[in-house]
Amino acid sequence: MLSHRRLSKGKNGVNNGNSNCRILSLSLSLASAERCFPRKRESPDYHEIPAFAGMTGCDNLNYRRSRRSFLLTGAGAIATLPFIPAWATNSETVDVTKLTPVTPPGSKSLAHFKKHCTACHLCITHCPQQILKPAGFNFGWDYAFKPHLTFYESAFCNYECTVCSEICPNGAIERLTAEEKSVTQIGIARFDIERCVVYTDHTSCGACSEHCPTRAVKMEPYEGALTLPHVYDELCIGCGGCESICPVRPVKAINIQAVEVHQTAKKEKEEQIEEVDQDSLDFGF
Ligand code: SF4
Ligand code: SF4
Ligand code: SF4
Repeated sequence: MLSHRRLSKGKNGVNNGNSNCRILSLSLSLASAERCFPRKRESPDYHEIPAFAGMTGCDNLNYRRSRRSFLLTGAGAIATLPFIPAWATNSETVDVTKLTPVTPPGSKSLAHFKKHCTACHLCITHCPQQILKPAGFNFGWDYAFKPHLTFYESAFCNYECTVCSEICPNGAIERLTAEEKSVTQIGIARFDIERCVVYTDHTSCGACSEHCPTRAVKMEPYEGALTLPHVYDELCIGCGGCESICPVRPVKAINIQAVEVHQTAKKEKEEQIEEVDQDSLDFGF
């Protein structure tokens, strides 16, 4: 139609109203459409089109086709939007604590890591626990391909490991001593009682507590002889030892939530000392 209009005009662009010319132009228009979308082919050979496009209006036809498919695709995507939140927040399969990436010890904060990490993946290839994985687009475009910590079967951040902080060439993960690493809080364990087998199956467990290197998870009285985990946030460093060992599937009953600005955790010894000091103060009265 567009090429018909174009060809039915005279040299000066004026429509001369000549019916023969219209028939001729319609024929040429059909011929050009045939060139654009050959019947014998399942799809047009777009490599042939550009050279012919300026003369026949194929560019317009292609433009309309691509615009139409773009609009249809966009409309389809928009139509699915109401269903995405339902899928993305399905509490049976989605761990909402994983909406922010857990960044490596030494990376100081999410903002610092995003600014300096070039996604070279040196830390990923050298992590002895293989828990550093490149992100997709799940944490946003500006975090794509950058590493984040993942915890799964018996894989967690080793208590005294500092490999990634030593190998990063861009200052995204700054060097830490083993002592500094052992108190660097990159995340905090979040306990979900409604998933824990002690609560759901009335059976004893406590694997998370046994595997915590900082004793941030303590088993506390629940029902009869059963005990439930309790996380002491100030002792937790977010190493993922508890999450990796928890037997609950598909989402664990204890999960690491990222700390966006890394903190310094307390050591249990200090806690005990503080408690003793408090007791001694009370005793004085
Ligand atoms: S500190 Fe070690 S175990 Fe933890 S993420 Fe870095 S390389 Fe992996
Ligand atoms: S509670 Fe979990 S994440 Fe926190 S220090 Fe203990 S094992 Fe590591
Ligand atoms: S390991 Fe998991 S199931 Fe077992 S007590 Fe800890 S949170 Fe509950």
